[in-house]
Amino acid sequence: MPNRYFSSRLAAHTGTRQVHAVELADRAANAVERTIAGLWRQITGAVKSLSVANPFQKRDAIVDLLKAVPYHTAWATYYQLQRSANWGHKTAVKGLTATLPRNYLAAVAARRFHRLGRPVTEAVELQEDFAGIIAMMIKMGQGFSIDLNVPYSPEPWAPRLFSHDEIDQLLKDFIFPPPSAAEVSQVVFAPSAGMTWTERLARLSRLAPPEQMGAVVVSGMAAGKSYTEVTEDLLPLMDNYRASARRVSRTECLRVTNAMQHAAHEELGDMLAGYQIHAVLDEHTRPKHRHRNGKTWMKDSGIPMRVALEMEDDVVPDSFNCRCFLSPILTPAGHIVNDPALSKTFTDSKDDLIPDPAGYSAWWEDQASARRKRLAVGTRRYSLVQDLTGDDNPPWEAFSDPKTGGLMPMDRLKAESEDQRLRRQIRLTKMADERRKAIEQISTFGLAAQPHAMGVRR
Ligand SMILES: [Zn+2]
Repeated sequence: MPNRYFSSRLAAHTGTRQVHAVELADRAANAVERTIAGLWRQITGAVKSLSVANPFQKRDAIVDLLKAVPYHTAWATYYQLQRSANWGHKTAVKGLTATLPRNYLAAVAARRFHRLGRPVTEAVELQEDFAGIIAMMIKMGQGFSIDLNVPYSPEPWAPRLFSHDEIDQLLKDFIFPPPSAAEVSQVVFAPSAGMTWTERLARLSRLAPPEQMGAVVVSGMAAGKSYTEVTEDLLPLMDNYRASARRVSRTECLRVTNAMQHAAHEELGDMLAGYQIHAVLDEHTRPKHRHRNGKTWMKDSGIPMRVALEMEDDVVPDSFNCRCFLSPILTPAGHIVNDPALSKTFTDSKDDLIPDPAGYSAWWEDQASARRKRLAVGTRRYSLVQDLTGDDNPPWEAFSDPKTGGLMPMDRLKAESEDQRLRRQIRLTKMADERRKAIEQISTFGLAAQPHAMGVRR
C-alpha cells in the first residue's frame, strides 16, 4: 500500500501547480504569437513599399522577411521553453520540499552517499538528528564514503550545528540541484510523439514556403492588385501558421514543465513507488483523458507505465493541447500505514488515492485569482456554480466531489438540490478538518511546511 498521506498532498500540489503551468503555457503561446504578429507588420509594410511599376525589384526583400518568420518563431519558442524548464524545476522542487518531511529528504540524500543501513520507512521515523547528521555529511562533502551499515556514534553536537532552515536548504540543493544548461537543452529539444517541436515548426513552414508566398505577392502586384488585396491573399496562410505555432508552443511548454517535474520526482529513487495520472477536468477535456483521470501505476507492477495510465506516449502531454499531469506515489511510512484511521482519510471507498482537499482549498483561498479559479474548474462550471449558489466567489468545496476528490460533473451539479449541495460542502469541510488533524499528528515527524506553503508564485 502506498503512502497515502504524502501522495495525496503531492497530488493536490501538482494539481494546483498545473493550473499555473497552463497559465504559463498560455502566456508563452501569446509571446510567440506576438513575435509572429510583429513580423507580419514588417511584411505588410514591405509590401506597401513595393513599386507598382516594378514589383519584381524588391521581391527578394519580401522573400527574406517571409523566411525570417520560421526562424524568429523558433527562437521565440526556444526562449519560452527554456524559461518553462527552469520554472518547472523550481516549482516541482518547491512542492516536494514543502510537502515531504525533513527526514524523508534526508533518507533520499543518505541513499546517495551509500546504502542506507535501515529501511527508508524506519529512517524517516527517526527524530530530527537523522536529518542533521545527513546535513553534516553533505556539508563535509562527498569525498568521504560513509557506510551507514557500520555502527557509528555521531558526535552528539553534530546535528545541532544547523538550524532547520539550513538543513532544509542543504538537503534541497543536494538532492535537486538546478539543472545545467545541457540538461535544460536536452529536455527542451526532446521529441514528443516521435517528433521534436523544431520538426513540427519546420513542417508548418513547408505548408507555406516563403518563395511561393513571395511569388503570390509580386504576381498579384503585377496583375494590378492593390496592397490590401495582396496582403489579404497572404493572410490566411499567415493566420494558419500563427495558430499552429501557438498550439506547438503551448503544448511544448506543458511538456517541458512536466518533464522537469518528472525529473525531480525521479530523484526520490526507491521512495517513489509509482505515479497517478490526472486530467484538468473541464469542458475542453478529451473523453479519453477524462476516463484515465485518477488511474495509478506502481513501479513493481510489471506493466509499463504507458499501458497502465493509458498514455499514447511515455510523457504527458501526449496529444495537442493536453493538460494532463502525473503526481508521484510514495512508498509507505510505517506510522501511517499502520494507523487505519489515519490512512482512511486519504482514500475513497474503493481505497483509491484522493488529492488532498485541504491542500486545494488552501490554494483556492490564498493564491488563486478569479482567472486561475476558472482555469482550475473550467469556466462553464465556474459560472454554473456562481449561478446556483448566488455567490460571486464560491468556495472550492462548492465544486468538489468528496467521493473522488475530483470536480463535480456539470449534470450532477445541476441536479443537486440546495440542501444536497450544502451537505456535500459540509462533508468536504469535515474531510479537510480530519486531514488537518492528521497533518498535526504527522508533523511530529518533521513535516517541513503546512499546506498553504505549496504555492508556486505568491
Ligand atoms: Zn490530457
